[in-house]
Amino acid sequence: MRITAATVYALDIPFVEAFRHSAHARRSCDSVLLRVVDEDGFVGFGEGAPRPYVTGETPRSVVEHLVGELWPRIVGADLPDPVAEGLPALDEEIPETAVAGVIAPNAARCALELALVDCALRSRGTSLGALLPPQRRSISYSGVISAASPELAARRARQMTLIGLEDVKVKVGIGQDVERVRAVREAVGPEVSLRLDANGVWALDEALAFTDDVVDFGIATLEQPLPRHAVADLSVLRKASGIPLVADESLVTLDDAELLLGAEAVDVFNVRISKCGGLHRSTRIIRLADEAGVAVQLGSQVGETAVLSAAGRHVAAWMPRLACAEGSYGTLLLTEDLSVEPVHFGHQGRAGLLRGPGSGVEVVEERLRRYARRVVGLVARG
Ligand SMILES: [Mg+2]
Repeated sequence: MRITAATVYALDIPFVEAFRHSAHARRSCDSVLLRVVDEDGFVGFGEGAPRPYVTGETPRSVVEHLVGELWPRIVGADLPDPVAEGLPALDEEIPETAVAGVIAPNAARCALELALVDCALRSRGTSLGALLPPQRRSISYSGVISAASPELAARRARQMTLIGLEDVKVKVGIGQDVERVRAVREAVGPEVSLRLDANGVWALDEALAFTDDVVDFGIATLEQPLPRHAVADLSVLRKASGIPLVADESLVTLDDAELLLGAEAVDVFNVRISKCGGLHRSTRIIRLADEAGVAVQLGSQVGETAVLSAAGRHVAAWMPRLACAEGSYGTLLLTEDLSVEPVHFGHQGRAGLLRGPGSGVEVVEERLRRYARRVVGLVARG
């Protein structure tokens, strides 16, 4: 596979309504989309969702990394075909360079890897399902409730259960947390699985006090109660709290995964494809966790477009064991998505498999141009 041209789009797609959690309030999708073209004219799309409070990346740093570091190293190169040679062979050819102030430039890496894989698959008319054989026929997505007043969170949760969602995640760590959890539990009843996410905001003593206060509400999991590096404290909390813990911001790289597993710090990994650096690295972490008996949820970036949603659908379908899945909100959150066919989930959070070539979604290129804050065109020299 030889890539001869690419276009980088820094997007700004407004949300239907703002989404808040303890680390950020978000009103639009600021993903970076990458469109690559191979020597035969086949096209592939990838997406990275930069999060300063997760990998340390910003839309600007992702564009700079793609344009300045990754593109010069892959343009015109004889890249391994991921269909014939596998995802690991391609991963080895994607340069690994440090970026100042960034934990790992994983959103940029994800955008490039997804685009290359999509392009290679489309050139053969093959689905991503050929690389990630599905273990299930559909995915049940859970709902995620933005940080809000207890009353509003309870109303949202109730709406979600009315469309049949059986699993909801509530943001905590922003004040009125116990009240919000109580209100949501009362609104959804005892059967709905209730997960909580603090986005790393607490110290150990605060997390211990909180878990004591909510343990009787039947909490399925508590995600990222402590800051990213507090792995030893996570182990302490896990033994003391009686609520299964999930690593999210603590789990960015493969080294993070090994550290968390070695410390027996959590019960569940939240793998997100952009956060973890693309398909190959996400699936490696999932395999490691599976071998260690740690459950995995397939998370998403709030406001991702159909390109990341499609990648998430394929990985969730492939996973040996799927604790739960988030994402595929599409136009439930975005005022307009990038794909011809909608990707968002339906009744009961269900969504079917994507079987078309590549990722299985057709990108409307006019929308890329319309929602781009910045466009960088790249071509092979000479
Ligand atoms: Mg999280």
